[in-house]
Amino acid sequence: MAIALGVDIGGTKISAAMVRNGQIVKKIEEPFRREQVIEDLAKAIKSLDPQQESESVGIACAGLIDSERGVITFAGNLGFENFPLRDLLAPQINREISLTNDASAAGWGEFRHGAGKSFSHMALLAVGTGIGGALILNRSLILGAHGLGAELGHLNVPGASERCPCGLTGCVEAVASGRAMEARAKESGFAGTQELADAARAGQPEASALFDQMGWAIGAISGRLANVLDLEVIVIGGGFGSTFELWERGALRGLQENIVVPDLRTIPHFTRARLGNDAGVIGVADFAYGRV
Ligand SMILES: [Zn+2]
Repeated sequence: MAIALGVDIGGTKISAAMVRNGQIVKKIEEPFRREQVIEDLAKAIKSLDPQQESESVGIACAGLIDSERGVITFAGNLGFENFPLRDLLAPQINREISLTNDASAAGWGEFRHGAGKSFSHMALLAVGTGIGGALILNRSLILGAHGLGAELGHLNVPGASERCPCGLTGCVEAVASGRAMEARAKESGFAGTQELADAARAGQPEASALFDQMGWAIGAISGRLANVLDLEVIVIGGGFGSTFELWERGALRGLQENIVVPDLRTIPHFTRARLGNDAGVIGVADFAYGRV
C-alpha cells in the first residue's frame, strides 16, 4: 500500500510521520516556530521522506480551517489569521497538500484505525486545554458547508453560565476542559489539575465532586448530540481525556439525563481513544491517500 505523510502543527511542536495503512513507519518532532513555519514544515517533510516516496501530505492544524482553499482562517493560539499555508508550502515540497482541523483529523484517525473502527456513526471529544470535536456519520467526516462544523466544544451545557473565550456562555469547553478544571481546582485550594486528580483518586469528596460535575457536563452535551444524530459511540481523546475514569460515572449520568427516552433506545457508549497523540498524523495521512 502507498505511503503517505501526516503532519500535525501543535502549540509547541510540529510532528511529522510517514504512515502506511494506519501504522507509523517513521516520525520526527520539531519545535513550532510561527515566524518560520513554512521553512520548518518543508525541512521536516524533506528529512522524513528524502526520496519522495509519498506524493501527498496531509496537514492538521488547530483552529478554523478552510480545507478547500488550504487556508488557516483563524488559529488564535498559534498566531495565524487568513494564512494561505497550502499555497506557500506547495512550491517548496512538490507534493499534493490537504489541510484539515486537528480534531477532525484525530477523529478520522480514530475512526479508521483506532477506537471508532467498528462503527459508522461516532463523535470524538478531544478533551485537552480546550475541547475539540469531530463527527463521523455514515462513515463520512462531517465538516459542514465551509469546513467550520463539528465545533463540539461550544455546545451549551444546560444551566451553565461560564463565559467561553469564543464569546458565548455555558460552552462545554468553558466548563469541562483542562483549562476550566485548572481554574476550578485553584478556586478550591488545589495546586492544579494534577493535585486535583490525585485527591479524587484518593477519594477526597470535594475533588471527586468537581470531576463528577465535569463528567456530567460532557455527558449532557453528548446526550443532546445523540438526540440529533443517533450516534453509536463517543470517543474520548485529548490529553486531559486520560482522567476519564474520574468522571466516567458523571458522564453516564449526564448522558442518561439528557437523552430522549433513554430506557427505550440504544444509547451511545463512551470509549477511550486508542491512538493517543498520533491520532492526528494518522488521520491526515489517511486524507492524503484521498479517502475523504
Ligand atoms: Zn465557546
